[in-house]
Amino acid sequence: MDPAMRLETVASLCNLSPEEASLMAKESPLPISQAKSIIENVITTLEIPLGIATNFLINGKDYLIPMAVEESSIVAACSYAAKLARNTGGFSAKATDSLMIGQIQIIGVDDFDQFRKKILSLKDRIMVEANTRSETLRKSGAGAKDLQVREFPNESMVILHLIVDVMDAMGANVVNTMCEHVSRIIEAETGHSTNLRILSNLSDLRIAEAQATFRKEDVGGEAVVNRIMQAYSMSVIDPYRAATHNKGIMNGIDAVLVATMNDWRAIEAGAHSFASRDGYRSLTHYAVNGEGNLTVSIRIPMAVGTVGGATSSIPKARVIRKILGVSNAKEFACVLASVGLAQNFAAVRALASEGIQKGHMTLHSKNIAMSAGARDEEIDEISRLMIKEGNISVSRARTMLGELRKK
Ligand code: NAD
Repeated sequence: MDPAMRLETVASLCNLSPEEASLMAKESPLPISQAKSIIENVITTLEIPLGIATNFLINGKDYLIPMAVEESSIVAACSYAAKLARNTGGFSAKATDSLMIGQIQIIGVDDFDQFRKKILSLKDRIMVEANTRSETLRKSGAGAKDLQVREFPNESMVILHLIVDVMDAMGANVVNTMCEHVSRIIEAETGHSTNLRILSNLSDLRIAEAQATFRKEDVGGEAVVNRIMQAYSMSVIDPYRAATHNKGIMNGIDAVLVATMNDWRAIEAGAHSFASRDGYRSLTHYAVNGEGNLTVSIRIPMAVGTVGGATSSIPKARVIRKILGVSNAKEFACVLASVGLAQNFAAVRALASEGIQKGHMTLHSKNIAMSAGARDEEIDEISRLMIKEGNISVSRARTMLGELRKK
């Protein structure tokens, strides 16, 4: 299909209204007048390709996955892995409640026993005060849930953790607001001053998990399964490989986060700090089951929102969330974990068999052709010639383009 036909199909599958469909068809639907209210010093907006990853079956439900990314192959890799996963029932996924951690730093503490007792005696009041900052969370039985005391005697420092159920929001603003508010009570009641009051991006109480099985015959047979397991073991023992392995996971996840205008830096920070708990290692786990098939799973912090932040202020992001079809943050977290798993499996499978460049270079060669100045039909022609020759570079593309235009 060409892009217009694809959009028409997606619009019909996802019941987009005529207004939503025409917004999606617009090439620059974010007016500067709106953009200048979102960040500072705006001069223009930036376009990024948005594609749809297909074949995803997660917890028995079909999804079309919008992905916004500048790198070729990611949409194809995710769609390919999801297609193989369908043969065994797709992805099964789950997510915890949306518990975020707010940190309050207290300095100059000498008597830790006395300080802990004082804080714990204030705990109920701190919870009630924190919950005055969000009527929505409080009324829904969410909001501040716990207060934990962490002591650092060498630094005369206490770090309080305010645990907040933020429901369907990413939660940074609401957690930061609560921390700043309750720190005033803590200062007044303990006589100690507070310093930092901000959420932790290591959201290890807010975890998404997904699992999928890939049949050995779909993967390329027992020999490829063994090579995949060897590749996986490298990502467990070697941080140099683990960094690239986890980058691949985030290729998939970040693209969905960008498409839905979620804070991808927060998810990146959470993922990599979580991967570093016992020395930096893979976020996915690979095993061979009794039938010789590959079972792949992922556990990853997933502080994402379907409300709040910029998720609704960018016009296309609202329609994109409708295409994705998730109704709350937990379901969204399940989708993201599955996408990360899919991207990781596709990359590791390709690396452990034919190598990553074969699939990657086809589309990448088109980018190279465009960088060299090729336009319209020239792009496909230069790409085809470079692949045939096995020499994909901007300088070669320029030479080919010159020859093509002379003809
Ligand atoms: P927000 O303040 O816009 O929205 C949060 C609100 O959504 C909550 O107060 C809650 O009342 C409401 N809510 C939650 N579930 C709901 C539901 N089901 N129905 C109706 N309302 C519901 O945004 P936020 O999520 O608190 O903060 C996210 C923003 O903070 C992002 O833009 C992020 O970039 C930014 N930020 C991040 C960091 C960081 O990661 N370190 C720091 C500061 C700010």
